[in-house]
Amino acid sequence: MAGEFSDERIRGEISAYLGHRGRTGKQLRPEDITLSRWHLLEGEVIRCIESRTEDLERGHGDVDLADRPVYDDINRYPLAAPKVPVTKSVKLVKRGTAHRGACGCDNGRVRCAHCEGKGHRACEPAEVCSACEGVRACTQYLRHGGKPPGPPAPPPKPGTATPQASRVTCEGCGTAESACPRCRGWGRTRCSSCKATGRVACKDCGERGTTACDTCAGQGSMTTWTGGLITWRLDSDPLPAPQQRPRAVRSELDTADWQVTLLAGGEPLPDDLSPQMRAAVEPVLRRPAKLRAHERERAYWVDLRRITVVKGELTGSYRREFYVFPGPGGRLRVVGRLTRAAKGKAAATAVAVLAVVVLALLLVR
Ligand SMILES: [Zn+2]
Ligand SMILES: [Zn+2]
Ligand SMILES: [Zn+2]
Ligand SMILES: [Zn+2]
Ligand SMILES: [Zn+2]
Repeated sequence: MAGEFSDERIRGEISAYLGHRGRTGKQLRPEDITLSRWHLLEGEVIRCIESRTEDLERGHGDVDLADRPVYDDINRYPLAAPKVPVTKSVKLVKRGTAHRGACGCDNGRVRCAHCEGKGHRACEPAEVCSACEGVRACTQYLRHGGKPPGPPAPPPKPGTATPQASRVTCEGCGTAESACPRCRGWGRTRCSSCKATGRVACKDCGERGTTACDTCAGQGSMTTWTGGLITWRLDSDPLPAPQQRPRAVRSELDTADWQVTLLAGGEPLPDDLSPQMRAAVEPVLRRPAKLRAHERERAYWVDLRRITVVKGELTGSYRREFYVFPGPGGRLRVVGRLTRAAKGKAAATAVAVLAVVVLALLLVR
């Protein structure tokens, strides 16, 4: 298998690793270390799924459809299958279906819905006094009641006094120091929006009484046509791994230098694939793609990633084991780990220490 490294080179890498860590630094001999190998295969089947649909389309004004391919039967429009995994979308127009017509609005404009075409909206000429809220406009209720009710036409301009300011002579009943200084006894003041004219300009149409038509975006006309749409999406089907990654270096292998092969559909699988690997890949290739209505598989590829991981265990009782695999930049990477036995021993020691502590505590009491 490609990417294979000799036992001698693996021993050399582990010796160098130990040397860097301040250990012996001497070259390991075959009898010093036992090597075992994992041949890992991961990957996926990538499928290009094509969809062909057609729909009635419309656009504002005079739509230029000249750059769109023309078709007669959307399912017969020739489009070469992709050579590499790629997504794509092609918009087409059915021959002889493009028509331009009037929108039905008034040359791109419609009556303003907010002012009903008037260009202005009604507004109350007077508003309730902001100082007395129309309730405490005059302290002389009885005298005030004898005068004609309601504000004069036009309503008074509001005074500048604050509510705390002293009362002024009421313009309603004529009593001195009885009226709210802002409305001078009327309870209402001239509307600040319409200046008592009873109408305000319509902001929605800028006083034109019409707004641009939404349907044709103000163009006054519409183009309709039958549009075709061909899209390619990619779907991937993971290959079941014949052998799992060693748990000790599972995440380290994410950045390892895997040997990558992208095969086009129908190309034979690499000769150096083991029967076990072949048995994992082939059923996925035969499995039909998951298709929706109007879809069909246009092409598929097999993305194979392979790597060999070597595990080294030192002869005799030793606390560490080593994993060697191709790392970034084509160099071999060595990862040292505590052996399972060492971990078990550490756990047992911790339990023993705890037991002694507990015993000591019991004896002290
Ligand atoms: Zn308006
Ligand atoms: Zn108003
Ligand atoms: Zn009054
Ligand atoms: Zn007032
Ligand atoms: Zn219109």
